Amino acid sequence: MGTAGSTESYDVVVVGAGPGGSAAATFLGRQGLRVALLEKSPDPEHHKTLCTHEISDGALGTLDRLGITDALRELGGPHASPDVWTRYGWIRPRAEAGEPPLEQGLNVRRAKVDPLLRALAAGTPGVELLTGVAVDEVLTAEGRVTGVVARHRDGERTRFAARLVVAADGRSSRVADLAGLPAKERRHERLGYAAYFAGVPDDHGGVSRMWLNDPDAAYAFPTDGGEMLCAVMPLRTDEAVAAFRTDPEREIRRVLADVPGGPDLSGATMVGKPIGALKVTNQRRRAAAPGIACVGDAAMVSDYIWGTGIGYALRSAEWLGELVGPALLAGGDRRLDRALQRYRFRHGRMLAGHYWMANDYATGRRFTPPERLLYGAAVHDQTIARRMHEMGGRGRPVEQLLTPALLFRAARVRAGLARRRRHQRTPVATG
Ligand SMILES: Cc1cc2nc3c(=O)[nH]c(=O)nc-3n(C[C@H](O)[C@H](O)[C@H](O)COP(=O)(O)OP(=O)(O)OC[C@H]3O[C@@H](n4cnc5c(N)ncnc54)[C@H](O)[C@@H]3O)c2cc1C
Repeated sequence: MGTAGSTESYDVVVVGAGPGGSAAATFLGRQGLRVALLEKSPDPEHHKTLCTHEISDGALGTLDRLGITDALRELGGPHASPDVWTRYGWIRPRAEAGEPPLEQGLNVRRAKVDPLLRALAAGTPGVELLTGVAVDEVLTAEGRVTGVVARHRDGERTRFAARLVVAADGRSSRVADLAGLPAKERRHERLGYAAYFAGVPDDHGGVSRMWLNDPDAAYAFPTDGGEMLCAVMPLRTDEAVAAFRTDPEREIRRVLADVPGGPDLSGATMVGKPIGALKVTNQRRRAAAPGIACVGDAAMVSDYIWGTGIGYALRSAEWLGELVGPALLAGGDRRLDRALQRYRFRHGRMLAGHYWMANDYATGRRFTPPERLLYGAAVHDQTIARRMHEMGGRGRPVEQLLTPALLFRAARVRAGLARRRRHQRTPVATG
């Protein structure tokens, strides 16, 4: 590694201009801080490709506060929160009569979402977006992170000094690793492939569908441009790996032809190439330490089958802005470190339970008795169906969503169903 040439000083250096980094730079810049947003790709349209891009409804508030919900809707993002099928039937959460419709996530391609968020950050006074700049060194002094060194495409290196470095460089964050915040990995036993299809008849009212085939999973999301994003996520057996490697389109079509109420792909054409991951891991690390905070995938990579990562990236960026921005403005390392601790606790309180549950299901295990109870009851009871919908949005901590009262209600619903079935079977005495 060569020595760095010039030195630039900022209040904050954000590394990575994906959803997490762009949102963090926007929220911090709006408070009057001087922010450098460093992105290694030189392409202004750069975006992540390996992503099925459902933005969960738990992030809608953050999108509103960023001021881009309408722009995303105009880009054509249909509602994304899915109806869910299990062997007990369809769970179709709907609003109560007289109530506004349920909050719905959005499904807009990353090719549109990432540049929109990046442009928002770049247009925020105080934020300077530098592209084609890859961070490969983290500076520390007296136990705290004090900046980064980045390599430009012409080989030149610049030192960026800052009171706060934000690692927003995605999965397996190099910046967090270099800063001594290693990730703990959790196994993920499914593979996932997805592709866009044109010419799929809309036989589900434009609503997304998810199949939890216990333990395999699949979904069909209407996407902007009138195309349907179809994804399948079976257990990663040797046979499945071989079949998906050989012909992913054939496998996607085969799986979706077999699911109940699946999309009719017989006359549909695949658009572009399938995207897929044969092996990934879930990861989590300390979300902050003196002088550094991690947002988005740099802090936590949860199982993609639940479509939560973009929402987590946007929301963690907002928590960082809210909790740490004022401390940066006020000055003083101790104040900043206390604010970083608060950010770390908020991250854990809001997301650790969801992460734990997602990891447990990512092992490929079958439904647990409480899951069977809830999925079975949600088919017949709208209160439970609506709570499952909220659970899908991950907007609140797990313990506020999966309460004993909910399980008790599910048990009562199931018991009532069993009674009715027994009653229907009992022969009526005659004579
Ligand atoms: C198969 C699959 C399907 C998924 N589907 C969904 C879904 O439906 N819904 C959902 O919400 N989430 C989904 N996700 C997860 C989602 O893609 C991520 O959670 C999300 O991209 C995280 O955003 P981020 O900003 O943290 O990181 P990223 O989007 O990864 O952005 C990181 C940025 O940092 C830049 N960068 C990296 N290293 C450096 C460096 N050294 N210097 C400068 N810049 C750097 C990169 O170029 C990139 O622009 C899926 C993931 C996978 C694998």
